[in-house]
Amino acid sequence: MTGHASFLPSAVPSSDEREFDLDDPFIGLLGQKTGRDELWLGKLVPRYTSYPPATAFQEGVTALDYKAALAALPANDPISLYLHIPFCQSLCLYCGCNTCATQRHERVTNYLGFVLREIQNVALIRETPWPVSFLHFGGGSPNFLSEKEFGLVFDSLARNFDMSSYQEISVEMDPRLITQAQIKTLSMLGVTRVSLGVQDFDPNVQHIIGRLQSYELVKAACALIRNSEIRSINFDLMYGLPMQSPTSVAETAQEAVMLRPDRISLFSYAHLPHVKKHQKVLEQYILPGPHACLAMEGAARQVFKEAGYVEIGMDHFALPSDSLSIARQEGRLHRNFQGYTDDTASTLLGFGASSIGSTSMAYFQNARSPEAYEEAIRKDGFATTRGLRLSGEDRLRAEIIETLMCTLCVNLEEVCRKHHYALATLSEEIEALKPYEQCGIVSRQGNTISLALPYRMAVRVIASLFDKTVRRIDTPVSRAV
Ligand code: SF4
Repeated sequence: MTGHASFLPSAVPSSDEREFDLDDPFIGLLGQKTGRDELWLGKLVPRYTSYPPATAFQEGVTALDYKAALAALPANDPISLYLHIPFCQSLCLYCGCNTCATQRHERVTNYLGFVLREIQNVALIRETPWPVSFLHFGGGSPNFLSEKEFGLVFDSLARNFDMSSYQEISVEMDPRLITQAQIKTLSMLGVTRVSLGVQDFDPNVQHIIGRLQSYELVKAACALIRNSEIRSINFDLMYGLPMQSPTSVAETAQEAVMLRPDRISLFSYAHLPHVKKHQKVLEQYILPGPHACLAMEGAARQVFKEAGYVEIGMDHFALPSDSLSIARQEGRLHRNFQGYTDDTASTLLGFGASSIGSTSMAYFQNARSPEAYEEAIRKDGFATTRGLRLSGEDRLRAEIIETLMCTLCVNLEEVCRKHHYALATLSEEIEALKPYEQCGIVSRQGNTISLALPYRMAVRVIASLFDKTVRRIDTPVSRAV
């Protein structure tokens, strides 16, 4: 069942950015363009899944640093694990992930052998196994793995870590690859949440982005999951793609809420063709500009709110019973490389190509390509190639930015006191906030700054005012909306 027209466009006109479709009823949500928009709309800023962002990581942080950091961790603190599977059956044209398309399953099997070696090598650093609280499989398409391969990974994790009291195991899945046997296996292995890449239900949009998956296919995948012990489903949706309009995005949002996922992530498309060359193909179509994107975001947000979802930070939505909504309510919301989370572990171990690990003192990233990763594991048993040691001031700024991203407000004085810095350390930033205060994007009471709710999507721009790295990063970042 879908509300979208089922025809495919015979030709899609090409032109500069389309800002407004005046017939679209959702444009009214946006109001008039104002000078205030220029302060944030369309600005290029990081997504702040970490601070400093991964684009600021440097060479020179090695496996030796990683091993020393892990050896120094407190004995019984729970940790989180991330496993990266950088393979997909085909490449979606909007994709910004570190992945590659392959039809050769042995390529994946071979890679997995190296990941299992890395797991064992990391676990050997400690005599007693680390207790694990969260485990996440990301990609790529982790469900490219066969049931037997999932079994091997879980077996290795159980032998090398203490998995007896984990809180969550989540797996990103391509709905087109889901089978009944796969869901049964994941359910038996203890997976608690699956995240489905949905993006858009409109066949016209799907045709353009190279990802055809009908509403019925996603519905059937949800039914399989709901019939298993896996208790939670997340949908990833996207706006800012060619052929989308606020009305079409609202239709996709309506169809999504009919399937009642527990969580929804609503991401803006990041067009970075100089980094992700396949995205260049989308330039033959009209890419919506920042104002049109904001109207799309607002249209979907309205649908989710009316359907009873709680707004989490800038781009997540969750049912009131979901652990993310409860964490938000109880002030326990955090942000990590997967987005918003209720994971409170301060250590994350990353496995696989390009995966990032972190402690409270540093970030460590593995070699990016599967080939370089495999070569490093073959040679040294570890694959750390870059990262960042955090200074005291980095940690201060990280907490300000994370608090802002999670709660849309922050008491600067309190965070400075906690990190033993004078408030004067932030005098330039406080000055830079003034234009945003004057036009009502943020308000300030004493030393607490808060985003005005209609401007929650400006939070990345406000966070960037506290980012000391943003001016020296030459790697591109994406548009705020
Ligand atoms: S399935 Fe996901 S990771 Fe794979 S190409 Fe498509 S968007 Fe990228």
